[in-house]
Amino acid sequence: MACDACGEAYAEDNVCVVLHTDEQLVLEACCEACHAQQVITAYDRPPYEQLHREEPVVPVIVTQDDVEGWSAFLTGFTGDVYDLLAQS
Ligand SMILES: [Zn+2]
Repeated sequence: MACDACGEAYAEDNVCVVLHTDEQLVLEACCEACHAQQVITAYDRPPYEQLHREEPVVPVIVTQDDVEGWSAFLTGFTGDVYDLLAQS
């Protein structure tokens, strides 16, 4: 990681941990070149994984017609499945 002010890379000695919880680290970095200070919050996993849904996700019921329809479609399908899924 580099200084926002001047772009100088931080050395290990210029970064200290000011807060450490189960989910996040708050670091304070001081740039050796321009002495600008920066607070950095780091997570041990992406923050969106810590979001809690209020309502459960109800899966869509797949019927026999859905299966047969997709089977017929995919039998003649010659395109790229990844492209197909990206469009949905
Ligand atoms: Zn700097």
